[in-house]
Amino acid sequence: MTTKEVPQAGLEIISQFRFCPRCGRDAIERHSEKSVRCPACGFLFFFNTAAAVVALITDREGRLLVTRRALDPAQGTLDLPGGFVDAHETAEEALSREIREELNLEIAGLRYLFSVPNIYDYAGLRYHTVDLAFACEVRDLNMLRPSDEVAEILFLRPEELDANAFGLKSTREVIARFIAGRVTGDEKSK
Ligand SMILES: [Zn+2]
Repeated sequence: MTTKEVPQAGLEIISQFRFCPRCGRDAIERHSEKSVRCPACGFLFFFNTAAAVVALITDREGRLLVTRRALDPAQGTLDLPGGFVDAHETAEEALSREIREELNLEIAGLRYLFSVPNIYDYAGLRYHTVDLAFACEVRDLNMLRPSDEVAEILFLRPEELDANAFGLKSTREVIARFIAGRVTGDEKSK
């Protein structure tokens, strides 16, 4: 067993519900593809996709800021900065907060690029997210000071990037698009 062992695939959360959390009866049944209900008390719950944000930050030489995950899921693999959008937050606010918390960097400008659906297995459960990728400019890269959830920071040129070194499926997709040069939007001006 190594620390880089791939975590066990999570179970769909919807299949984990059996007892009604409101009335306690052993009565929960599937109501739709993404909802369960309790016929005894009318409790109805939807399992919605969570929103997450991913930052593509490049330095003056066009190298991409890449992190190494210090924590599960996918501990030890490469990743991009970002995280879940909290309730009442815009995606832009979530990105600014995550970049501040994770890297101690302030975002000076950002541009939405595209989204990728993702599966996030954590603690034996499977979460569904949609990851929103943004190209980000930061105020001062010299302020970079990673948090405990980041084991290492790397700046990699597109040709140095290997999508397979990234632990999360949606991040591999974002990296593949970055390598293909489709994310900067600079192609036409070059
Ligand atoms: Zn009930």
